[in-house]
Amino acid sequence: MKKFWNEEFETLPLEKMREFQGQKLRETVQWLYDRVPFYRKKLDEKGVAPGDIRSIDDISKLPFTVKNDLRDNYPFGLCAVEMKDLVRVHASSGTTGKPITGPYTADDLAQWAHCMARELWAQGVRSDDIVQNAYGMGLFTGGLGFYLGAQELQCCLVPTGSGMTERQIMLMQDFGSTVLFSTPSYALTIVEKAEKIGVDLRKLPVRIGCFGAEPWTVEMRKEIEERMGIAAHEAYGLTEMMGPGVGFSCEAYRLHLNEDHVYPEIVDPTTLEPVPLGEKGELVFTALQRRAMPLLRYRTRDITSLRRVACECGRSLVVMDKILGRSDDMLIISGVNVFPSQIESIIMEFEEAEPQYQLRVFKKGHLDAMRVELEAKPEVYGRGADAVQDLANRIAARIQGVVGINAPVEVLPAGTIARSEGKAKRVIDERK
Ligand code: ADP
Ligand code: ZN
Repeated sequence: MKKFWNEEFETLPLEKMREFQGQKLRETVQWLYDRVPFYRKKLDEKGVAPGDIRSIDDISKLPFTVKNDLRDNYPFGLCAVEMKDLVRVHASSGTTGKPITGPYTADDLAQWAHCMARELWAQGVRSDDIVQNAYGMGLFTGGLGFYLGAQELQCCLVPTGSGMTERQIMLMQDFGSTVLFSTPSYALTIVEKAEKIGVDLRKLPVRIGCFGAEPWTVEMRKEIEERMGIAAHEAYGLTEMMGPGVGFSCEAYRLHLNEDHVYPEIVDPTTLEPVPLGEKGELVFTALQRRAMPLLRYRTRDITSLRRVACECGRSLVVMDKILGRSDDMLIISGVNVFPSQIESIIMEFEEAEPQYQLRVFKKGHLDAMRVELEAKPEVYGRGADAVQDLANRIAARIQGVVGINAPVEVLPAGTIARSEGKAKRVIDERK
């Protein structure tokens, strides 16, 4: 039985991979130098000519690209091909102002489909699966990216899109969906709704979840696996590099990156110097094979680390640790750096707490302060106000102990926290 979708590249020895990456980097730099004035100017300023790129190590000579470069060149200023050669344009939400565009040539789309197919195959999806695609369908890369992968594997695709949760559950039952694609927070919303209307998802044929597009903890994965009766796998990606398909978890739940397509680096976000393997920093990607809008050393703002591991799945592709969060989402509370995912880990330790939470950030004098809001399991409310307060106190103490910050915890009435249908909004910012 075929173990890998693309055995050659998924198991390529490091030396060979680096050789391949070097060659693709050289081609990409030449491609951009000849076609994109923005990059030509940047390379000229650094005194780097495409011919100077002889191996992947030479990547350190190249300039970085930041989110603002994309905004300044909105919508197609960084495009290396003519509009007539584009076959698709996606865009990321862009929290403020103009979105960030992701244009594709036909070949870029084929690569995307291939990367997605590697992922689905690794996660156990096969052509006889009925896959329910509950990622948002539209400009967001999640929906149509997963669609491409399912198409490549010739699965039976059910493109529900996100939302209308009761209908999702009905279709899961009626169609016998075996795979669910969604964000992890939406998977949780589905499971919660199913439990509420008396449907036991564990008894349905659904067996695999391919969840991504937002940070989630290992504890959250286990919670979803248990309540849905599935293996919950992970997808990582970003519009600027292709969308989902950049990284995927294998049978050992390690997140491998398709490093023959996207070359990853981890840098110190202040000095921009590379950090050693295993150390945390900002994730930076260079597109190695794309044509429409390949980016050089794109600073993702995602904080994580990389490892070279002999993974039991047999893949040699580099392993990425879980994303701690985006640097933009990092809070500084009493001088301590805090990511929402750290708070999530702690909340998930408490059986009596629902895995639903939000962090309310506000000003206290000159400093930022934070309140953790969450919900308790029904039985806790049943035990009265003191039990509820006791749970809040214990979680607050644990946060103090583990993260080292003093953050009051408030247990809200059941159902008050908005349930996610896409990317969950964890931080409510009241500082402005
Ligand atoms: P937007 O910036 O509008 O959210 P994207 O959909 O392109 O646009 O989001 C990409 C970002 O989503 C990544 O840079 C990362 O912050 C987050 N993300 C995607 N997948 C994961 C994942 N598996 N774990 C953590 N964060 C993720
Ligand atoms: Zn693996």
